Order: sequence, then structure tokens, then C-alpha cells
Amino acid sequence: VVEHFALPEILVCPACHGELASSAAGVSCVDCAASYPVAPEGFLMFTQGERDRSERLDSYARRQEADAPGFFERFLGPRIGLAERILDVGCGGGSIVAVARGQGLEAYGIDLPKAVALWSREGRDPASVFAADATSLPFGDRSFDLVTSFGVIEHIGTVTGQATLRSDYVRARRAFARELLRVVRPGGRILVSCPNKSFPVDLHHGPGDEVSPPRGLRGAISRATGLNVHPTWGRYHLLSHREVRDLFAPAPASALPLSGYFSFDGLRSRGMRALAPVAKAYVEHLPNQMRATAMNPFVLAEIQV
Ligand SMILES: [Zn+2]
Repeated sequence: VVEHFALPEILVCPACHGELASSAAGVSCVDCAASYPVAPEGFLMFTQGERDRSERLDSYARRQEADAPGFFERFLGPRIGLAERILDVGCGGGSIVAVARGQGLEAYGIDLPKAVALWSREGRDPASVFAADATSLPFGDRSFDLVTSFGVIEHIGTVTGQATLRSDYVRARRAFARELLRVVRPGGRILVSCPNKSFPVDLHHGPGDEVSPPRGLRGAISRATGLNVHPTWGRYHLLSHREVRDLFAPAPASALPLSGYFSFDGLRSRGMRALAPVAKAYVEHLPNQMRATAMNPFVLAEIQV
């Protein structure tokens, strides 16, 4: 007996947005005949790619898993509003999707094929998370009330998914913004975050995330302090609030307060733990008019569709 993939109604062909049908081999498009396999772990693969799980991804996913209920309670839950159907683009291990489902929301997530092993380990529902490309989503127009994408946009258009930009990164980021806008219903919202390019220190990505480690002054600072002090203009993988806003224009983007976004519990080094109350006070009390400026270490934008 061949078990067919139980196809959620919300999915469409990412290539042509046509109807999908389940078959013994996986899923195929009724319109353009594209076919998409189901991984041995049971998850639908709209894109192929690196499947090896890395230790780095594992430890990231474990932190996300531990923090997700708190993140939902502190930050996302209060911002859900009347949204019922939500999508997390670049969902990692799928912890936000799982927590949102536990709260009664119809939540879905997509990430690259390397996340499949994590989904399998965490026992995610294959009807809720899919391997797909963020610039070619397997959902129809106007499918969601709310789309979230946390710490993903700065990796779109990069060589290895880390920090080094591809030559066509601008086009890739435009395609990403266009796709998020396409799948949100009118009146819906998009939440996007990334470390702020205009703020000279990135606490989320190390200089080692780049294909060639930084040299000169930047290299010396990072070796001496462990801090990733980076360029605040020109070609760099992070985005400023203005760059995020321009990508989603003409849909208006506002800079949200960071309160509740960060958990400062997870800081491991003693030095960082000592700084945590300072950092917490700083991000929680940043004046409104500074949210979209270089004084904010993080870009957190809400786009109204
Ligand atoms: Zn198709």
C-alpha cells in the first residue's frame, strides 16, 4: 500500500501557483507538471539543497526551541491581533509554528531543506512545515493574515546562506519582499527583523560568517574584542530600517519597539550576563523617534498590506 502525502489545501505550485495533486512519488502540479518529492522524514520538498545538518544549526534550533514559548508570550502573541492564519518564513526548527498551533492558530512555516532533520527530531506536523525557497513560496495570493520573518532577510541573496553577498542579492531581496507581499491578504501585516546595518555592532552574526574573514582594522577589532564591528553603509549583508522599508514600498513600514523581542536569559558569557540589564534597559526604553535610526541595534519593521 502506497501512502500518499496528505496535501494541505493551502499549498499551490511555487512555480506557477497551479493546483497540486498527491501521488505515490510525492506531489505534482496539475497545471505545469512540476513534481515535488516527499523526503524520507515525511516532509514535502519544494526546493532541493543541502540536507546535512550542522552543529551550528542544531544549537541555533535548540535555543529557538527553548525560547519560543516565551517569545510568543512576550512579543508575538500580543501582536497577533485578529490574525488567524499565519506564516513564518525561515521558520528554522519550526518552534514558533508549533507554539502558534498550540495557541489555536492556523500556522505554517517554510525553511531550506537543511531544516528537515530538525523538523523530524522535533516531531513537527508535515502538514505545517515545508522545505521551500523564500523567494518562491508554495502558497496562493492573499493566503495569510500575518507573515513573520525573523532574522532571515539578511541571509537572502548570500553565497552560503551566511553573510557573503551574491552579485544578484538586490534582485533576490526584491523577490523575497514581493513574495511576502503577495501571500498576505489586503489588511494583513508582515513582521520583518534583522540586525540594523546602521548600528555598527552585530551581536547576532560573527565575522566568521563571511567567506573571507575581515582584515585590517575591522579584523583587529574583532580579534581583540570578539565584537563584529561592521560597515554601516555600502555593500554589507545587513539592512537598515530604510533599506527594509524601501524593499516593501509602497506598502508602509513602521519601526516597532523592541520590547519583548529579545530574551536576555540566554547570554552565556559572564561579561555578557553582566551587560544584560544594561542592554535590556537600552532596547526597552529606546525613544520612539530613534527606532528607525542608527541608535537602534535591530530593525523590527511592521509592514501594512
Ligand atoms: Zn505548476
